[in-house]
Amino acid sequence: MKVTMWTPVFCLFVWFWLPLLGKAAPKPEWIELSYQFNNGTIYWPTSLAFKHIRLSENFTGAGFYYSAYDISAAEHGGTHIDSPRHFAANKWTTDQIPLDRLIGPAIKIDMSSKAAQNRDYQVLPSDLEAWEEKNGKIPDDIILLLFFDWGKRWPDKLTYLGTDTNDTSLLHFPGIHPNASRWLVKNRKIKLIGVDTASIDYGQSTLYESHQILYERNIPGLENVAHMDKLPIKGFTLYAAPMFITGGSGGPCRIFARLDKEDCTVNAAIRLRSVNIFLVTTVFMFLIFL
Ligand SMILES: [Zn+2]
Repeated sequence: MKVTMWTPVFCLFVWFWLPLLGKAAPKPEWIELSYQFNNGTIYWPTSLAFKHIRLSENFTGAGFYYSAYDISAAEHGGTHIDSPRHFAANKWTTDQIPLDRLIGPAIKIDMSSKAAQNRDYQVLPSDLEAWEEKNGKIPDDIILLLFFDWGKRWPDKLTYLGTDTNDTSLLHFPGIHPNASRWLVKNRKIKLIGVDTASIDYGQSTLYESHQILYERNIPGLENVAHMDKLPIKGFTLYAAPMFITGGSGGPCRIFARLDKEDCTVNAAIRLRSVNIFLVTTVFMFLIFL
């Protein structure tokens, strides 16, 4: 076989058209960011844990199947929302948080390497600035997630919280330093914040200053956000759907994300392009050496 003048033309033709296969059916990618509620769900050590009590789970005398359960739990446990009212009088209760504060474009700041070295690590303003240097300014009205890679410890209380007792002085997990919260409310305009630990303040906190600073500005918090490792740094939309509790200081929350369609398509096309370049180069070299 010989290389003819048509060979490169053919290769270019294939290279340009193949990526369109990837664009033909871009699939949205949904990511679950909640833990399930069950008897093993982690709650704050002093809180009432989730109870799921069976009332009925069988065929009735009339012949149909019927199951029903009672549930009870504290507001703050498992994947949940902290309403601003949790630490700020007169700020929003769970039912008062506007829906547009619970849905929207989000970013993830990866603090996993620092948390791996120090389980009492607190995110500093310099960490936020370092993220911005790499990824651009934190946009207005964004949902900000802080990723400590803490979910890999779930649902083991001892490694996740630092203790499996009710002694809160033994809590050890990373969080947001009050200075970083001050920096955020002063310099940026975030609408919701989330962490993959049990609290936005670190485990050893006794004043819960980040709770006070952020909630005073009506910025709700998401705690025990699951599977953050599956999220990119940016290019996704977050949905948080808390239980609609009148006057609540928080509540159980279903959280999930959708990777931006454009990004999925672009990424798929880039991946296909890379594969194409490899394949075409291989074929070309093969033809040359024949
Ligand atoms: Zn909470």
